Amino acid sequence: MTTADERLGNPPVDILWILAHPDDESFGSAGTMAWARERGLRTAYICATRGEAGQIRESRLATPDTLGAVREQELREAMSLVGVSELRLLGFRDSGMENTDDNHNPMALINQPPETILTHLVGHIRDLRPATVVTFGSEGVYGHPDHVMIGKIAARAVELAADDNWLPDMLQPWRADALYFSAAPRERLKAMAALPDSPFGQISERSRNNLGIPSSEITHWLDVSRWVDLKKQVLGSHHTQVDPEAFLNPDSPMAQRLLHAFEQYQRRPLPWDVDMETEDALERARSEIGAKEVPGIT
Ligand SMILES: [Zn+2]
Repeated sequence: MTTADERLGNPPVDILWILAHPDDESFGSAGTMAWARERGLRTAYICATRGEAGQIRESRLATPDTLGAVREQELREAMSLVGVSELRLLGFRDSGMENTDDNHNPMALINQPPETILTHLVGHIRDLRPATVVTFGSEGVYGHPDHVMIGKIAARAVELAADDNWLPDMLQPWRADALYFSAAPRERLKAMAALPDSPFGQISERSRNNLGIPSSEITHWLDVSRWVDLKKQVLGSHHTQVDPEAFLNPDSPMAQRLLHAFEQYQRRPLPWDVDMETEDALERARSEIGAKEVPGIT
């Protein structure tokens, strides 16, 4: 079958990230994105919100009213550095960290009907036709309500995009080869949470006990040490969120994350998987850029 997109010569995407905020992609996957660019792979990022409820590190950078627009620009800068050409914003509002006032904003992502978000995502998946999809797992790395929600719905959207009974008039069904959760090792996040400048200071007890996933459940460790300098630059593009000085202090949570120079993923089964041995983009990354052995966790 030929879609309008194919007739225009727009090839399918190799890796599609579906996450919640500008900077989620850079923390978890900037190195993987750089690897993909080097391979000439086509990548795309669907970002559910503009991060309107994030911090403003310095008041000269944004006001609460301009933060969404500023963060969109920061994201565009970050994506141009790693060569992600296809950026789509769903335009929902950042719901804020758990138990904050932003949770109650009627425009917040978490207050939207899940079917609305699902319909958007199925449309984008059928349009972009990704081989590999990356989203958040149920723990949302540190329990951010938007991470939890978008991960759950994106995983369902990957399944429904392939279902020819589901919105049959909305583009051709598309079956992705592989689904991954962007994962962080629990042991590392717990160590970070114990640091004085921990970004996890304000999260609930429940989320603090459920940070990341056990390293034994991570299926793919990509050694992205070659791109650590680039990753610092990419993270630095998120000016309102990231203090560049934090890279210089090896005890800062930021440096702790980067010093490991690994990006982690958990492969998830799809209903049509035969044996999960499909050769997909992150499998190729694993064989090309390393990570055959699990690194030590401190
Ligand atoms: Zn986030």
